[in-house]
Amino acid sequence: MSAETVKPAETPSPTADLIRFDKVTKRFGDNTVLDDLCFSVKPGKHVTLIGPSGSGKTTILRLLMTLMKPEEGTIHVNGQQLFPSRGEKQLREVRKNIGMVFQQFNLFPNMTVLRNITEAPVRVLGLSRDEADERARELLDMVGLGERADAKPTQLSGGQQQRVAIARALAMRPQVLLLDEVTSALDPELVAGVLDVLRDIARTTDITMLCVTHEMNFARDISDDVLMFDAGRVIESGPPEKIFGDPEHERTREFLGAVL
Ligand code: ADP
Repeated sequence: MSAETVKPAETPSPTADLIRFDKVTKRFGDNTVLDDLCFSVKPGKHVTLIGPSGSGKTTILRLLMTLMKPEEGTIHVNGQQLFPSRGEKQLREVRKNIGMVFQQFNLFPNMTVLRNITEAPVRVLGLSRDEADERARELLDMVGLGERADAKPTQLSGGQQQRVAIARALAMRPQVLLLDEVTSALDPELVAGVLDVLRDIARTTDITMLCVTHEMNFARDISDDVLMFDAGRVIESGPPEKIFGDPEHERTREFLGAVL
C-alpha cells in the first residue's frame, strides 16, 4: 500500500473512540508542551479541556487540525490514523471530519455572510450553489442570523460574526467540532448569545465537541466529561459534577478557585 493510499474508515461501533491520543508528546524546542498524553473521546460526547494558560489545550486542537504534528505518539480520528501521518491524502480525508472555530472569527471580509458559509461546501464537498445556499440558510436560522445572509462581516457585531463562524464550520457537516476559546475575544455582553447557540447545538445535534474554554458555567452545562490539564498532562478527568463539585487534585482546586 503506498503512503498516499487512503485506508477506508472503520465504521466506529457505539463504544469505539472517535478521537484517540496515545502517548502523544509535542515539543517546541526544549519546551515539552504535551507530555506522553493519552485521552479519548467517544462519538457524540462533549468534552471540555480546562486548565491554566500554557498547559497545552490549544495545541491539542491544533494537532487535530493538522496545523502541527507531534514528535511522538499516535492520534486516531474515526478509526483513521492521523499521526504518524500516512500521507497528505489521508490527512485531508480525516480533516474533512473536523471543523474548528477559533478565538478570532477569521471570516472572509469581502464576502457576504452567506458566501462565507457556502464557499467550502461548494469547493471542497462539491455541493451545488443551490444546495449550499439552502443548507447555509438553515444554519443561519439555527444561529439566529437568518435575516443577515446578505450582510458583510464588518456590518455585524463580534458575537454575530462568531455565530457565522460556527455556522460555517457546521456547513461542512463535520463529525467533530473543535472550539478554541470562542468567546475570549468578545465584549462581555456578546458572550451569552454565542454560548446559547453552542448549548443548542450540543442539545440538538449528535456532533462530537472538543472545547477549550474559560467559561466554567458553560463547561458545566454542556460537558459529558471535563479534562483538567496541567503541564501537558491530564491530571484529573470526570463528569462536570465531580470536577467542579468535588475535585480530587490540589491543582484542580487551585485552578477552579482562581477562575470561579
Ligand atoms: P493553552 O491552550 O493551554 O493555553 P497552548 O497549547 O496554547 O496552551 O500552549 C502551550 C505551550 O506551547 C505554551 O508554552 C506556548 O508558549 C507553547 N507554544 C504554542 N504554540 C507554539 C508555537 N507555534 N511555537 C512555540 N511555542 C508554542
